[in-house]
Amino acid sequence: MPSASGSPPKIRRKGWRRSSRKGSPVLKGDKEEKVKIAVCIKQVPDTTDVKIDPKTNTLIREGVASITNPFDEYAVEEALLIKEKHGGEVHVISMGPPQAIEVLKNALAVGADKVYLVSDRAFAGADTLATAYTVAKTIRAVAGDVDLVICGKQAIDGDTAQVGPGIATRLGIPQLTYVSKVKEIDPAKKRIVVERLLENGREIVESSLPVLLTVVKDINEPRLPSLLGIKKAAKAQIPTLTAKDIGAEENRIGLKGSPTWVTRVFSPEARGGGGEILKGELQEVVPLLVNKLMDTKFIK
Ligand code: FAD
Repeated sequence: MPSASGSPPKIRRKGWRRSSRKGSPVLKGDKEEKVKIAVCIKQVPDTTDVKIDPKTNTLIREGVASITNPFDEYAVEEALLIKEKHGGEVHVISMGPPQAIEVLKNALAVGADKVYLVSDRAFAGADTLATAYTVAKTIRAVAGDVDLVICGKQAIDGDTAQVGPGIATRLGIPQLTYVSKVKEIDPAKKRIVVERLLENGREIVESSLPVLLTVVKDINEPRLPSLLGIKKAAKAQIPTLTAKDIGAEENRIGLKGSPTWVTRVFSPEARGGGGEILKGELQEVVPLLVNKLMDTKFIK
């Protein structure tokens, strides 16, 4: 069930009401109050059919290309749209091995202002708690006080959806998860109104800035990079930060900072075939089905 926990006094649910408020005009196109945005992106294997090595309990990455986590492309796009409307800066951060530079280059090619890789052997074995701590420290180190942090709703490999909320907690800011639309931002009044996706509908929520959003794919249509953007990104030197550079505490990163670990990862055994499809007219099939269910004691 999606949740939007955080600092309760700063978040106001507006239910299904219209989101525009009298006396609180939206500063459309206002370039005076700029919005500083950090976007967190993760490099993931290009497949939803992730295979696990049963001996090592790790992902089999051989022969699988890496891509930007698809939900993070929506996060980058939303940051660019907000910047285009209000002015500001988009800082994109990824924690990962050196090859994660590729996803940062893609972010540069579509228009991010600054990108940073945070990479260090000391981060190895990080669970979601240590990852969220590391990314939060990086945001503070490279961008300082930001108005918005945008993450994807989840990564398609780890799939926990914990890192975004974890970053918000460590930064001490509210979080709005499963955001399907940014309806209004008022940088001067430090307010934001978003639409959140729920299991059985949508809700409108207002929050103060700074806030962390996790976004779903309904939110926008990510742009393709321009030729100029690709050329610029190809030449760019991507700054790589270590644990020391971000001032991370040794016992809060990597294995040492990870209170959870994976004891076993496995794909469920494929079930054997079976089952029967009853064919015929409804009047004939229904009593047949009822009898069969009674025989097997599914119903009495
Ligand atoms: P989610 O929480 O699903 O991602 C949500 C969003 O957070 C993403 O859309 C993105 O915006 C942001 N985000 C996530 N990860 C990053 C990132 N790295 N950089 C920037 N933004 C990010 N991994 C290992 O390599 N070695 C291990 O030993 C290891 N042990 C683990 C033990 C446990 C118990 C768990 C739960 C995970 C472990 N992992 C390990 C996986 C690692 O912790 C996750 O890859 C990482 O925490 C991200 O979690 P996730 O993939 O579930 O992302």
